[in-house]
Formats: sequence, structure tokens, C-alpha cells
Amino acid sequence: MKKTIRDIDVKGKKVIARCDFNVPMQEGRITDDTRIRAALPTIEYLLEHDAALILMSHMGRPKGEPKMEFTLAPVAERLSEYLKKEVKFKSSPTVVDDEVKKMAAELKPGEVMLLENVRFRKEETENDPGFAKELASLAELFVQEAFGTAHRAHASTAGIADYLPAVSGFLIEKEVKFLGSAVEDPKRPFVAIMGGAKVGDKIPVIRNLISRVDTLIIGGGMAYTFYKAMGLEIGTSILDADNVGLAGELMKQAEEAGVKMLLPVDVVCAAAFENDAETVTVDRDKMPADMMGMDIGPKSAELFAEEIGKAATVVWNGPMGVFEMPNFAEGTKKVAEALAASDAITVIGGGDSAAAVEQFGLADKMTHISTGGGASLEFLEGKTLPGIAVIQDK
Ligand code: AMP
Repeated sequence: MKKTIRDIDVKGKKVIARCDFNVPMQEGRITDDTRIRAALPTIEYLLEHDAALILMSHMGRPKGEPKMEFTLAPVAERLSEYLKKEVKFKSSPTVVDDEVKKMAAELKPGEVMLLENVRFRKEETENDPGFAKELASLAELFVQEAFGTAHRAHASTAGIADYLPAVSGFLIEKEVKFLGSAVEDPKRPFVAIMGGAKVGDKIPVIRNLISRVDTLIIGGGMAYTFYKAMGLEIGTSILDADNVGLAGELMKQAEEAGVKMLLPVDVVCAAAFENDAETVTVDRDKMPADMMGMDIGPKSAELFAEEIGKAATVVWNGPMGVFEMPNFAEGTKKVAEALAASDAITVIGGGDSAAAVEQFGLADKMTHISTGGGASLEFLEGKTLPGIAVIQDK
């Protein structure tokens, strides 16, 4: 178990917290502030418990230079509105300078300031000890609250913990609790659902999960690489030709491990990669040579839903079809509904499945929706995330 902000006394302490304020921007305006709102419980807790709070984050890719289109000034402003108090901010091209140091030194309990975009310094992504030390020098305690970058060893996500004791904020606590226990100690039956287009990205996850799950469901564009390995006609469907052999091996591994592996039994095929293309729905051994698979068919959706209904833990990563097109969203929607209706612990890996669940208005029916796409995949791969590894154990 990792230490959290609840396990330590922050009263009167200078606390530096790494948040994920990497919000989408358009012409200097924040277009979606979900990530800012997500960090509020931790920020409010720290302020209510009389910490003097220094916040830091990256935004976009300024590539180690102080490019003002990536300034965190709008974030400071938005945070001030939510917190109903001033969030002090000094846009320093070097992130930390004498003025920033003075500001941090004079910060009182219950007050809060935000540093400039840590990626204004190239030393950030290099995990440079000098920069990590500069950041650490501002505070007495480090709070890790940025799951989206926890799989990166950067100065503000990992290096800083060489100089300060590190604990997790509430967001990280939740990610570790649900993703961690799903992988390490799941309530059974444990069903994992993998989808999306890129087989290559998901192979390490499938490999790690095969030894842990009771059932592995594979849908989405990935399924056709497995079909190919089974010798089925896949028409013009998306194919990861380099990984056909590996798909076959994974099926064999699952069989040897006594894991039930379910692939779609029917397919919604389209004549072109377009929402309004002509479609046919066929059993998987009848895919027309001149069409492409765009979604799982209704029999598959029912089969998957039935399996989800029997599960005690479900982890889902990747859509079942091209859900961005309404005509091919049905399979993904059915799976999302099955998860929403189940009593199981339901964990949604970040990225597209999280977007799909939001799109269908089912987000609040899930136990946990991970906020980090890459980070949650690495977690499911069983990798140690540098930003989590540095947090002290209880
Ligand atoms: P990934 O990044 O690997 O999780 O893939 C997500 C993307 O896979 C989404 O944008 C989906 O539209 C896409 N996808 C899902 N099913 C299919 C399919 N049958 N053919 C092509 N793309 C698909």
C-alpha cells in the first residue's frame, strides 16, 4: 500500500504537488477543464489541512523551451475560480527563479501557487537531478497526483522524490487501488476486454493478463488479426500483418492456461470506411472479400454481455468497433451497457473506452475510469510506473 496525503500531517508544511493540468487549449482558452476539476479534492484537502501548496504540471509539448502558447496562466486563473481564492502565479521562463523561490518561501498555510509549465525546461523530460533538486528546494513534501504522466520518469514526476518524501494524492490513490487490485488480486471471475485497432500496443497487456484472467474478450479492429491467425477471410479489414503469428501464439497460450478466450462470432462489415457505407452483418466465417469489419455483430455483443454479467471484476480497454461513427458504435455501446448493468468492479482503461463510456452517458455507472491512457496500459502490462514507484509505502 502506498502512503497518501491522509497518512501524513501536512499542517504548516510546504507541499509541492505534481498535477495533470495538461488540458486542451484553443486560442489561449481552456476547452475542457475535466483534469483541473479532477485535482480539486486533493488541492482542497491540502489547503483545508493548512498546507502551503505549490502546484506544478506540464501542458502540451513546448519541447524544453518557454513557448508562451503553453503557459499555465489560464490554468491558474481557472483554479482560482474553482478554489475561490487567489492562485499565485509567476510565469518564469526557467520555471524556478529567485522570484518564484521568494514567492514559495513566503507562501502561508492555506495559500496556493502554481509554477509555470515544467516542460519549459528540457531538463524536465531528461529527469535531470539538478532541475529535480530546484523543484524540491521549494517544499518539504512531494504529492504525486498526475497519473497521466506516472509512466514517465521525469524531474517533476519521479526525480523530485530523490530529495523529498513522496505520498499520493486522491487521484493516484484511486488509480492504484482499482487498476492495481484488478491486476494483482482480482475478485473472480475476472474478465478482461480488449479492443481498439493497434494489436501491437495491446500485446504486452494481453500477455500479462492471460495468466491472471478467467476470460479474455477480444473485439474491435484487433480481432481481425486473430481471425487471420485462425485462417478466416477478413476481407479489407484492418490487419496487423506483423503480429498474426503472435496472435496465434496468444490463443494457444490462453488455451494452455485454461483461459476462456472469446472473439466476436459475427461482424458488421462495410463496403468502405464511412458511416454511410453499405453494410452486411455476417457470421465470422462469411466475411465478404471486398468488405471490412467495422463492429462486432449482435450475437457477439450478446455473448460478451453474458460473460460480463457473470464477472466479479471487469477491465476494459479499447472499443469494439469504429464507435466514432454512429452506425458502428452499437457493439461498443452494448458492452458499455453490460458493464453499467453489472455489479462487478468495472475498471475502464483510459483513452477511447473512457471516451466511449462518456459518450454513452454511462460514466457514473463504472467503478473507476482511469485518467491515463498510456499509464493505465502500462499498469495492465504489469510494469512498474516510475511515478508510482517513488511513492513511499505504508
Ligand atoms: P486503439 O488506439 O488501438 O485503442 O484504437 C482505437 C481506435 O480503434 C478507435 O478510434 C476505433 O475507431 C478503432 N477501431 C475499432 N474497431 C475498428 C475496426 N473494426 N476497424 C478499424 N478501426 C477500428
